[in-house]
Amino acid sequence: MADRQSARVPGHGLQAEGKAFAPGNLAEEQAPWIRVRGHIGRGVCACGAVSDVEWTDAARKRWHRAHKDEERREVIPVEGSEDA
Ligand SMILES: [Zn+2]
Repeated sequence: MADRQSARVPGHGLQAEGKAFAPGNLAEEQAPWIRVRGHIGRGVCACGAVSDVEWTDAARKRWHRAHKDEERREVIPVEGSEDA
């Protein structure tokens, strides 16, 4: 499958390619989320964002795409406003 490289957003990577995660030890920053067997679980982004419980890797990838779109919207630079 051809992933569009341009869709990458720095600092945002879907962990384990959309595999399912469940709450680990939320008190420990090291391992707040852990991989689980099977398909039901949450998607986890490198930035710490977590999806709802989804039933497929594809659904988690869809969530991550939408998540990146949101983040990208916030980092788009505004041109021309600081020319003196
Ligand atoms: Zn993220």
